Amino acid sequence: MTTARFDTLLVANRGEIACRVMRTARRMGLRTVAVYSDADASARHVREADEAIRIGPAAARDSYLNVEAVVEAAQRSGAGAIHPGYGFLSENGAFVEALDAAGIVFVGPPAAAIAAMGDKSAAKARMANAGVPLVPGYHGHDQDDALLRSEADKIGYPVLLKASAGGGGKGMRVVESGADFQAALDGCRRESQAAFNDARMLIEKYLTQPRHVEVQVFCDSHGNGVYLFERDCSVQRRHQKVLEEAPAPGMTAELRREMGEAAVRAAKEIGYVGAGTVEFLLDSSQGSSQERDGAFYFMEMNTRLQVEHPVTEMITGQDLVEWQLRVAMGETLPLKQDELTISGHSFEARLYAEDPLQDFLPATGTLTRFAMDLAGAGLSSYEKGRARVRLDSGVESGDAVSMHYDPMLAKLIAHGDDRDQALATLNRALAALDVQGVVTNRAFLQRLATHPAFKAAELDTRFIERHHATLFAAEHPTTEEYASAALIALDQLGHERESDSPWDRHDGFRLNAPHGIRIALCDRQDETSTIVVEGTRESDAAPWCLTIGSETLTASLQPLEGDAVAITLDGHRRRLQARLEGDNSIVMVDPRGESRRLWRRIDAIDHGHHEVESTLTAPMHGTVVALLVEAGQKVEKGMPLMVMEAMKMEHTLTAPADGQVESFHFAAGDTVGQGDVLLEFTPDE
Ligand code: ADP
Repeated sequence: MTTARFDTLLVANRGEIACRVMRTARRMGLRTVAVYSDADASARHVREADEAIRIGPAAARDSYLNVEAVVEAAQRSGAGAIHPGYGFLSENGAFVEALDAAGIVFVGPPAAAIAAMGDKSAAKARMANAGVPLVPGYHGHDQDDALLRSEADKIGYPVLLKASAGGGGKGMRVVESGADFQAALDGCRRESQAAFNDARMLIEKYLTQPRHVEVQVFCDSHGNGVYLFERDCSVQRRHQKVLEEAPAPGMTAELRREMGEAAVRAAKEIGYVGAGTVEFLLDSSQGSSQERDGAFYFMEMNTRLQVEHPVTEMITGQDLVEWQLRVAMGETLPLKQDELTISGHSFEARLYAEDPLQDFLPATGTLTRFAMDLAGAGLSSYEKGRARVRLDSGVESGDAVSMHYDPMLAKLIAHGDDRDQALATLNRALAALDVQGVVTNRAFLQRLATHPAFKAAELDTRFIERHHATLFAAEHPTTEEYASAALIALDQLGHERESDSPWDRHDGFRLNAPHGIRIALCDRQDETSTIVVEGTRESDAAPWCLTIGSETLTASLQPLEGDAVAITLDGHRRRLQARLEGDNSIVMVDPRGESRRLWRRIDAIDHGHHEVESTLTAPMHGTVVALLVEAGQKVEKGMPLMVMEAMKMEHTLTAPADGQVESFHFAAGDTVGQGDVLLEFTPDE
């Protein structure tokens, strides 16, 4: 690893971290070079850089993970150093070696230090040497089935099987009892072999209520090392962090020093240089988070800057990227251990483009708006010279969110004099965040950050799991949401009708016809809680009259720019983004970024004629999907008779009265024109 002065920094990353690193680099007078894939040609990090170089197609493995292309970009731009950010090439030893060979400074540790921590088993052996406490377990070379089983028995269940080469939560399995061991071992090995091409396993005691507490360390190339205190990152989903804070609640000065010193020992053991994070599990099963037995165990060391580094910056007043760049230039650490202090408390919330209600499924789209109105939320961004709220973002209004990369859009960081104040500030800032056009976890973050258990700092890594019921409390769609979705469906039907001119010649399904239209909407595809919206309208100019359950509302819709609409319900006008998706769902996103998805089903179109007819006509041009009764069959009013499909929706035609179906004029699969007589029907007297 080379350290040398440089005046141009290439940032081999994208999104918020690329923007954040360049911000400090610029402040230090460095020229900044971005790299980009085809998907990112006009991304924010490219716009903000002094120069930017294309490194390949959208897929990360062909661009941001392409060592050769990144090294070439550095050479082409004359960059003397590369900052890798996190993820991508940040923990890739071969990349560091390639930079060493090219005489380019890597802003990070030597390749050997990355290698030492890259393998979990080898790392544990080194840590044991350095006197860093480990979770009781087995991390030996011998991988014999019987031996592993006897080691697991010795440790005592539950145990955690982990892939030695693992990362990102892959190849990890909890084993509850000896009887389950072999099957879990086989499964874990297969997963690890597939993901890392390496099937070696280690076994750890599985802590049932641990907190994830990590220590920020820093070393320079002159043998100095310090710790910048700890962060609690216990709130995780699928072993991924969502909310982080510093300092860790309930920490005593003594435990802080013990953990800090163990972390620095860990770093020194492997000849570390730069910013690193030593992750520990803190056993909180004994006592509350305020009074623990203080047992902590080394988990792993991340040999790079972490996503959550800003909370450390907020409480120490230091710029960790500046420290990284100074160390890479060969300088000594800016401060000594006893010059570092903690001031106040800080939180970070990670804003993801994802839908927590759909198992955190990543979302894509165009951010029609991405803004934070701090003044409006009663927050000023600077107070006493220190930022109270910080938004580290990789996107701006108008940017596209693609499926190629991590769905993290931004990080919202808040600082306060104490934990309560910092949390209140975080909550206000979350409310002030205005994201439109893409579904995000913003509301979920608010639910987390206002949760009583979180407020009380009752933290452990299963927080989200344990509080699932309250965090995901089924929020049933409101009458307003059903009404809005019904209007959007009606509007869409109107457009589809206009593009199909024969429609207008008939009076079957006419939106402005004086009869009711019934639209069934459900809030989950499988958990069908169907609500029927009945609408009538006298003329195009008059609003709809919607009946939802026992409520009746006057309603109108006005299309605005793009996919925005204004919906007025009983005189209350609201703006929404509305989108129709291929699965017949209507996605509505309100100005606070809250999204709601409802599936539309037109189960029946009520002709509204009061005398019962002896024929049933096709309400629209479409295809007959199924006949549900036999000719000659007696039916009751409302009984489904046949199913038609049109405009990608199924429509069930029901019996207009009690009576008998005499005959059908069409069979399943037939195409029918709008107004065609479908069946003969004799109503009972
Ligand atoms: P990866 O490298 O795949 O991210 P880690 O070893 O860092 O895996 O563990 C990820 C997460 O799994 C931790 O943050 C913690 O929540 C949980 N975990 C890891 N080891 C244990 C353990 N021994 N007991 C309980 N939970 C654990």
